[in-house]
Amino acid sequence: MIKAMNIYKQFNHLEVLKGISLEVNKGEVIAIIGPSGSGKSTFLRCLNRLETIDQGILEIGGDTLAANGPDGQVRYAPEAEARRICRRMGMVFQQFNLFPHLTVLENLIEAPITVQGVKREDIVPQAEELLGKVGLLEKRDVYPSRLSGGQKQRVAIARALAMNPDIMLFDEPTSALDPELTGEVLKAMRKLAEEHMTMIVVTHEMAFAREVANRVIFMDNGEIVEQGTPEAVFGSPSQPRTQAFLQRVV
Ligand code: ATP
Ligand code: MG
Repeated sequence: MIKAMNIYKQFNHLEVLKGISLEVNKGEVIAIIGPSGSGKSTFLRCLNRLETIDQGILEIGGDTLAANGPDGQVRYAPEAEARRICRRMGMVFQQFNLFPHLTVLENLIEAPITVQGVKREDIVPQAEELLGKVGLLEKRDVYPSRLSGGQKQRVAIARALAMNPDIMLFDEPTSALDPELTGEVLKAMRKLAEEHMTMIVVTHEMAFAREVANRVIFMDNGEIVEQGTPEAVFGSPSQPRTQAFLQRVV
């Protein structure tokens, strides 16, 4: 589903990704953990072209989004093709970014209609089904300002799903929420995982990572330091940096 090879990225002179390689198979749930500033968000943002990479190869669903050219410079797929490739990925951020002037339902159907050209009568039932799935069908006609943080984030998840993505990327989707609201969002994500959605989740919810992820990636200082099953990474981490991090957070 996703193949990232030897990804490098720097901001000005700060090297943020130093040769990240990661393959994600269909239906896998990957949790990325690691200290603040280690490059987790940057890596996710590179996958869907919110940031461009400096070096490396990115393949999404078998198509090449970016690859080093013969001159060593990265070449991206042509704009229309790159957009099409990136549309296979839905993303949910820490901040919910809902459109405040649109109702919950309108938030879900906006992009499918304007970006994908789906007919309103086709997308509305699907959007309602998605709202049901995240437990918010009764909020269909409400504006985002009337929702709790957890509800907003569940709408954001449903909105990403309304684009019918093959892959969902989550960047700390619960870290802006009060603790009592994280559970409902994690529950919606757990449900998605049970339906075998391919997911990459940057998270500091270690219990969630342990329980839901097939594979845990520990990033530090722009590198993947260690990866493995949750049992392996949490139970018997082999790298001193992983051990030190887990001691701090668990
Ligand atoms: P956190 O856990 O705090 O979210 P992170 O692992 O997601 O951290 P990133 O957001 O990827 O870390 O940031 C990695 C490094 O890149 C940080 O030092 C950050 O300051 C820097 N950085 C990120 N985005 C930019 C940018 N647009 N311009 C300059 N520097 C940036
Ligand atoms: Mg981040």
